[in-house]
Amino acid sequence: MYLFAPRQLTENGAIYHGNCACLASITAVYDTDMPLYLWRLIILVLALPAGLWSCSSKDSLQRIISEGELVVATRSSPTTFYLNNDTPEGFEYDLASLFAEDLGVQLNMQPAFSLDEIFTRLRRGEADFAAAGLTLTGERQALYEHASAYHTLRPQVIYRTGQRKPRSVSELEGRRVLVLAGSSHAEALTALQAGGFSGLEIEEIDEVDSMALLDLVDSDYAPLAIIDSNEFSVQQSLYPRLEVAFDLGSDQSMVWYLAQNEDNQALLDRIDQFITALKADGTLERLRELHFGHAEGVSRVGSHTFALNMRRKLPAYSELIKQVAEEYQLDWHLLAAIAYQESHWDPQATSPTGVRGMMMLTVPTAQEMGVTDRLDPLQSLRGGARYLKNIKRRLPNDIYEPDRTWFALAAYNIGMGHLEDARVLTDRQGGDPHLWNDVLERLPQLQKSRYYETVRYGYARGLEAVTYVQNIRHYYNILHWQELPEQQQTPPATLNAYLPEMLQRTDLLAL
Ligand code: GLU
Repeated sequence: MYLFAPRQLTENGAIYHGNCACLASITAVYDTDMPLYLWRLIILVLALPAGLWSCSSKDSLQRIISEGELVVATRSSPTTFYLNNDTPEGFEYDLASLFAEDLGVQLNMQPAFSLDEIFTRLRRGEADFAAAGLTLTGERQALYEHASAYHTLRPQVIYRTGQRKPRSVSELEGRRVLVLAGSSHAEALTALQAGGFSGLEIEEIDEVDSMALLDLVDSDYAPLAIIDSNEFSVQQSLYPRLEVAFDLGSDQSMVWYLAQNEDNQALLDRIDQFITALKADGTLERLRELHFGHAEGVSRVGSHTFALNMRRKLPAYSELIKQVAEEYQLDWHLLAAIAYQESHWDPQATSPTGVRGMMMLTVPTAQEMGVTDRLDPLQSLRGGARYLKNIKRRLPNDIYEPDRTWFALAAYNIGMGHLEDARVLTDRQGGDPHLWNDVLERLPQLQKSRYYETVRYGYARGLEAVTYVQNIRHYYNILHWQELPEQQQTPPATLNAYLPEMLQRTDLLAL
């Protein structure tokens, strides 16, 4: 499904758009003695007016539907697309798969190894559109059609705490600023440089994941980097020493860019309708919440401590956690995140209220779960896992994943009765009691008499339950992401490795 080799390259090097075989008649280029340049000339003369012209008038939506496949150029990063144990995930992946479903076609996500490569694929018609956390910019807009915005972001200047904090563009001058090569930020800085800030020192890094830039600033390779706000907020926890110096400009739109040389009007309309519908029924908000929402609310200090403990304490227990997770068919990152939230991975932990151990079980819960020694980490983890599974089973059937897990965690913390009360309040106030995001807003109301007096189980520390769940989600994501780089494919030394042998010897691609 995730082919790196561009699909439209035919054996003889002709590029065509699916069933639009513009150059199909050009064969056996290398079988004669005629000089190569002459062949190229003939190809150009034949192909441009006849072939490419007919390609450009082809309707891309119709073609995608008749081929039954949507090819999307993307990039691997936690905010766009990644493989989690071979399962594709990510904000762009979720959006693109919903769109493919809407069209009734298969999705083929093709991660590129640089931002420039994404646009090259659009130029060559090797992808139908690009979905890669791409910002709408003037230069891109002039070259590619784009659909309507589905997210907003802000470029941010990132620096390492302890170093001088720049506060304006002029304070960036004379200090190296890293950006992703071919990014909107490279474009913006180059424009600023030309427009009077001649002291700007821009260094373009040839990567697709802005985490690479954070690594470089964190390791003192360069003092500053520019990345998008949504990317920084989800990755910051891995880099507790890094902070935002200032926002470089105001909100910008994130859009899908379409391939060149086709009639994209119908496809554009269809994408716009799709985005409008996702906005209207709350799906878009839900996806944003799912992929970016957890990052808010956990303090920088909390994240820092977590990052330290992940290195120092977790290794001693990770095998145990994995074992229990497997026994109870839970994601081990989730179990580890809960154990961290409960005890900071301390099997001896004891609270003033008498809960104890790695999973901080109460005496009644421990008894119910068959735990005889709460300070034994294996028993404690098993007790917690079992308890969570029990709660999950008892939740109403029409609450689906991932919300089901967040609800189960909330109930683990506050109890099933209070969670139910919060769902009742949600329903009364016009929210959807099946969505964690809606119920999360109402849980704190259980602390206010004008609300808790109207529900069955009364007062409860609802805000604490929300923090509990959101922290676990945050830790879960950090644990999950720090493993991801190992699972991604490494870029080829040169793109040539991915081209058919015949093409590696020619420069027909320049067509
Ligand atoms: N949004 C950026 C762009 O469109 C990519 C992400 C980044 O550089 O932080 O180029």
